[in-house]
Amino acid sequence: MSDIPGVTRAVFDDVMVPNYNPPAVIPVRGEGSRVWDQQGREYIDFAGGIAVTALGHCHPQLVSVLQEQAGRLWHLSNVMTNEPALRLARKLCDATFAERVYYANSGGEANEAALKLARKYAADHHGDSKRRIVAFNDAFHGRTLFTVAAGGQPSKTRGFEPLPPNIDHVPFNDLDAFEQSMGDDVCAVIVEPVQGEGGILPAGPEFLRGVRDICDRHGALLIFDEVQIGMGRSGHLFAYMGYGVTPDILTTAKALGNGFPVAAMLTKADIAASLTLGSHGSTYGGNPMACAVAEAVLDIINDPQLLAGVGVRRERLLAGLQPLVERYGIFTDIRGSGLLIGCVLDEAWHGRGREVLNAALDHGLMVLVAGKTIVRLAPSLIIGDTDIDEGLQRFEAALKQLDAGG
Ligand SMILES: *Cc1c(COP(=O)(O)O)cnc(C)c1O
Repeated sequence: MSDIPGVTRAVFDDVMVPNYNPPAVIPVRGEGSRVWDQQGREYIDFAGGIAVTALGHCHPQLVSVLQEQAGRLWHLSNVMTNEPALRLARKLCDATFAERVYYANSGGEANEAALKLARKYAADHHGDSKRRIVAFNDAFHGRTLFTVAAGGQPSKTRGFEPLPPNIDHVPFNDLDAFEQSMGDDVCAVIVEPVQGEGGILPAGPEFLRGVRDICDRHGALLIFDEVQIGMGRSGHLFAYMGYGVTPDILTTAKALGNGFPVAAMLTKADIAASLTLGSHGSTYGGNPMACAVAEAVLDIINDPQLLAGVGVRRERLLAGLQPLVERYGIFTDIRGSGLLIGCVLDEAWHGRGREVLNAALDHGLMVLVAGKTIVRLAPSLIIGDTDIDEGLQRFEAALKQLDAGG
């Protein structure tokens, strides 16, 4: 905490693996869409912990559910089941296409389970003739070796070879290229309905419908990775509902626990049957603490009024962001879906998103980058008008300074 001497950014370089490079600011407290650092400086949070804190920081209902569960039961392992896990699974099935749920602790693990299930299902039904996986360029599915190989970003796999074989990548939103890459040897196609890390890029509705049709033609399972866009961020509980295209397997994580690590893989009963007794598992997956929180998150987010509010907040943000595109030579466009918003950097600013992030931080605003060309906003789905307006003012102050070369 802030009164322990010497807990500063400098310690990071002494004791942490250098795979991250956080700024000097160390937040110690959050409430709603505001966060305070060790010095008591206040920030408006347009980052949402990378689309995780969809209900803001320390949501009173979630704090109370977590505290209640903490005094009741923490962990059993999957040797036994527990009430929160069963309640949450029932609610996830009632709310979606799914008939079966598998729990994990992170998005990567949920996708790992999805890919393994697709392979196993194909092995059960087609022997060894159907092993290939098709994924998309600039996709992101996690950091396990299987999921990072499924992601279409060579910068994240370099040096980790040999990678799991039999995974092909094709351009996103290019139905012809996709069709050409497909065959009866494909067991699964994995796609983000809205690419997140790859640049906040929504799939075209015809593209996604076409992918579904071609998967059906070749008997390939369609996996939607909704780890980032799911749980309300698109304005629908899951983005597939807005597209009207139903996957065979869906993964959700990030906002599912609002910051408490939890993930789920959803699927149909006949597909789930391939994850036979002992074929896959997790020590923590479906832990009562995580599931109690996630159940409360789902109860709050799966509400027509809350979901409608996502579109209203998006409009308010866009109305403030669009003039900034015109006024400063930093962005050329605003894109995205619901409250996952990408500010497209002008070519002169490619690779310099981090400068925008740092300038925003200096002005009391937390934002994110995505790839080399996007400044990403993923605020709380219930962020208030005052926080939106004040955040936009701080964003403009930061852009003004950057544009002036200051
Ligand atoms: C963040 C993310 C993941 C990985 O989730 P982790 O919890 O970091 O393992 C996978 N897919 C998508 C689309 C993501 O945004």
